[in-house]
Amino acid sequence: MTLHLRSTRRRSPEVKEVIVGGGGGCRESWRSLSLEVEEVCGVSFQGLTRAQEVDDESEFSYVEGSENGPENWGKIKPEWKICNSGTMQSPIDILNERVEVVSHLGRLHRDYKPSNATLINRGHDMMLRWESGAGSIHINGTQYQLKQCHWHSPSEHALNGKRFNMEVHLVHESLNNKTAVLGILYKIGRPDSFLSMIKQDLEALVNTPNVESAVGIIDPKHIKFGSRKYYRYIGSLTTPSCSQNIIWTILRKVRTVTRKQVKLIREAVHDASETNARPIQPINQRTVELYRPRDQEEN
Ligand SMILES: [Zn+2]
Repeated sequence: MTLHLRSTRRRSPEVKEVIVGGGGGCRESWRSLSLEVEEVCGVSFQGLTRAQEVDDESEFSYVEGSENGPENWGKIKPEWKICNSGTMQSPIDILNERVEVVSHLGRLHRDYKPSNATLINRGHDMMLRWESGAGSIHINGTQYQLKQCHWHSPSEHALNGKRFNMEVHLVHESLNNKTAVLGILYKIGRPDSFLSMIKQDLEALVNTPNVESAVGIIDPKHIKFGSRKYYRYIGSLTTPSCSQNIIWTILRKVRTVTRKQVKLIREAVHDASETNARPIQPINQRTVELYRPRDQEEN
């Protein structure tokens, strides 16, 4: 099988050095071309396939104050303008005094199913994409299919001014292309069982930005919620294009992850900051609702 490294949308044709492990220490410099590593290195990588939909890591960065840093995302491309001009951007700091406790939102119904998945190092994060049929969540009578999940560190959302060590985003889409993202926050503590489960797959891709790898059947139910309480607000994608009208659900319960697991997630980020959390955005006139079941159960 052939491994393709792709960088066709790189803005400045910089030379990158890619070190491919597992094949006898093959090192190769590459420019804005796809490179058939198999021919160069004489090794094959089972399960690695062409990275067709991978975002280019150099198009935007998390390095504050840099030319393509978060303050300038809206200036990089006309279609990313809303990153700077939008009034409903994410992430936000969820402050107690802005939160309205409600019960009308109802329990979060998720119906996830095991499905074939592909792990992708996007350069700015690791993403696990389900090919199809990974199930859905229901919000206001609409079904949103689970498409992918990816990790941010530190967390993007804050609770009462506090950011946590990591946040996972589960991205869902409805049949009419509306997006609903579910976020789970993590602090340092016991291992996260889902990351433990895919540890080797993550490790295999850490130093290979813009490469994807088929990882077989992954059951999204293994991403633990552990809470019935959740915050709900309307925001945006937290990476360019920063599209708005995204239905956000942030679980109230802060789960745990080990330092090693956080490090593994951060190693995937190939910019100088090694972090991938967008700065907190103004909440403006938005309200945040907190769903709490009527029966007052703790979780
Ligand atoms: Zn995200």
